[in-house]
Amino acid sequence: MENKTLEERVKELEHQIDELEDNLIHDTLTGLKTRAFFDHEVSVYLEIISQQLQLQANGFLQRKQHFGFRNLSVIFFDIDHFKKVNDTHGHDMGDVVLKKIASVISVSLRTGDTAARWGGEEIIVNLLGASEQDAAAKAEEIRQKVEELEFTEIPGFKITISAGVASSQEGVGLEALVKHADEALYRAKETGRNKVVSYSALATVPEAVA
Ligand code: GH3
Ligand code: MG
Ligand code: MG
Repeated sequence: MENKTLEERVKELEHQIDELEDNLIHDTLTGLKTRAFFDHEVSVYLEIISQQLQLQANGFLQRKQHFGFRNLSVIFFDIDHFKKVNDTHGHDMGDVVLKKIASVISVSLRTGDTAARWGGEEIIVNLLGASEQDAAAKAEEIRQKVEELEFTEIPGFKITISAGVASSQEGVGLEALVKHADEALYRAKETGRNKVVSYSALATVPEAVA
């Protein structure tokens, strides 16, 4: 066993605690925020939005007075046919693809917006103060950038993503908001992938014929 002084051991443990704390906030593979962080942050924002609306409804706050934002929108991204990437090119190449897409998303966002790894190859984004239309435009910009990505590892390799967009409405909670974005994403997948679908457009985007 290594001979460490008590001071060295304490420093080592402190470092490990810092690392654990950081892992609660940051996803180790992609460097994006974690789902836990996203959940907490968006819940807090939704609570603020809902309280503002109540104050306005009761006449305590003018509509033009607000705390910097009065809505938020989320984008749910999912990589298309990602399983095939792993199966064909290996899990390590899958990781390379995931990291590159995460990086494209990160650099496309404004300060204050949050991108988090929701699940395996699903990334969720919070755009503070953005309308559903703004969010759909941002999602489309990112979709195009991903489509144009080149991978030096495999010449000619191409990847696409699909996205679902939803916006906060009066009283909407985190769970409903994410569910709306997920439903829109599902429609994007169902109707051909490599596209962006907004929740409010679900009634007008035809479902895939079985
Ligand atoms: P779809 O277009 O419908 O989204 O098809 P898909 O193949 O992307 O969807 P599916 O959910 O069937 O597969 C997701 C795959 O993502 C399966 C899983 O092995 C892979 N995956 C999840 N997390 C990681 C990861 O961290 N690294 C790698 N390389 N693959 C991952
Ligand atoms: Mg998926
Ligand atoms: Mg997928």
